[in-house]
Amino acid sequence: MNNSMREYVEQLPIVDVHEHHLPEVLLEREINLLQLFQQSYAGWAQARPYCLPSESRDSDPMLAAAGPTTWEALAPFLEESGSNSFVRNLVRAVVELHGSGAPEITRDNWQSLDAAVRAAHRRPEWQREILKRARITTVITDAYNDPLLDPRPALGANYRSVMRTNSLALGWHPDSRDHNGSSAHELLQRVGLGADSFDEYLTSLEKLVDGMASRGQVALKNALAYDRDINFDEPNEPLARAAWGKAAPPLAERKAFGDFIVDHLCRIGAARDLPVQMHLGTGIIRSSHPLGVAGLIERHPRIRFLLMHLAYPWSRDLLGMAFVYRNIWLDLTWSFLLSPSHFKLALHEAIEVLPNETRMMLGGDNWHVEETYGAMQTARRLIAEVLEEKLASGYFNRATAERLARRILHENAREFFKLV
Ligand SMILES: [Zn+2]
Repeated sequence: MNNSMREYVEQLPIVDVHEHHLPEVLLEREINLLQLFQQSYAGWAQARPYCLPSESRDSDPMLAAAGPTTWEALAPFLEESGSNSFVRNLVRAVVELHGSGAPEITRDNWQSLDAAVRAAHRRPEWQREILKRARITTVITDAYNDPLLDPRPALGANYRSVMRTNSLALGWHPDSRDHNGSSAHELLQRVGLGADSFDEYLTSLEKLVDGMASRGQVALKNALAYDRDINFDEPNEPLARAAWGKAAPPLAERKAFGDFIVDHLCRIGAARDLPVQMHLGTGIIRSSHPLGVAGLIERHPRIRFLLMHLAYPWSRDLLGMAFVYRNIWLDLTWSFLLSPSHFKLALHEAIEVLPNETRMMLGGDNWHVEETYGAMQTARRLIAEVLEEKLASGYFNRATAERLARRILHENAREFFKLV
C-alpha cells in the first residue's frame, strides 16, 4: 500500500450532504454553457443573488433562464472574474467533462464546449453519469423553492432532501413569505393542515415534521441567516403570540415569533432524533456570526446540529464552539469552493481541535452536476493535501489519515443522517 493519499481519497465514495439539485433545473434538457455559469457560484462572482435587508428583487436570478451563449456573455465570468475560486472550480470541471484537452475556456473553444454542454444535457442519463463519475452515492438536496419536495420520484432513489424551515419561522400571517417566496400557510395547506390560531399552528408544525420521513426528508434546514439575524434568543411566548395574524408586526414581535418557532422545531426534532442543518456565516453578514446560535445549541443538547460552511469568515469561532458543545457537527460544504487556501488552514485546525473523528462531512451546494463534480474534485484534492501534510509532519499515521478520509467523505454522513 504505497499509493499516495491523493489516490486513496480519489477512489472513496462520497455521501453529498448538501446540494441545490432542483428537479426543474436538473431535468431541463435545454442547458447551455452560459447557464452553467449563471446557475453556479461563478454567477455569484458577477452578482450576489440574494437581498440584504436594504434591497429587494422581483424573482430569483438563480432560476432565471439564460440567453444563448456568446463570448460577450461569457467574458465577464472568465476574464473580469477569472481569478475567483468559484470560476476556477467551474472552468476546471467544464473543460474536463466537456472539452478535448484544453485547460481553459477561450475565444477559440467556447463554441465547441457550448455544443458539448447542450448535447450532454439533452441526454437523460447525464446527471446520473456525472454523479457516478464523481463517486457520489447519495445526495441530500435542499430544494429551497419547494421545502416539501420528495426528490426520489424525479431525481432518483439515491436522493434525500431536507425540509427548509425559514417560512415556518416567518409564518405569523398567511401573506408572509421567506426570501425564497415560500409561505408557511401554503405549505401546511398542501398537506391538509390548518393554522387558524397560534396554537393550531404549533400543532400543525408537529404534524408537518411527522410527514418528513414519507417524503424522504432526513433533516430540518435552517437558512434564516438569509432572512434575519440568527441570534435565536430565549423564547418569549407572549411576544411571539403578539405577532400572530398581523400582516406587518413590529420587528421585536417578528423576531420573537421566529425565535419561538425555531425553538419549537428543535423540541419537535429532538423528540424524533431529527438533526438540524443550519447555514452560518455570510448571508446577512452583519448578523450571521456563529455565536448567535450558541444559546439555541445550549437549550437543545439533544439536537444534533450540522453547522455549515465553516461559518466563513468565522471558522475559528465555529471550531471553538464545536469543541465546547458536543452536539455540533461540521458541514464543510462551500468553504472549499469559496477559499481553498483558507479551507486547508481550517481543516488542519479542525482535525486537531474536534473531539473525535465523527464530526465532519461535505457537500457541493450546487445547481448543476458539473459544478458538483468540480466541487468534489476540489474537495478530494484539498483533503488529500491536508492529510499528506499531516502525515509528513508526523502528526498521525497513514491508517489514521485513511480512516479520517473515509469518515469525512461518507461514513460520518451515513451515521449522522441514518442513511441505509
Ligand atoms: Zn446551500
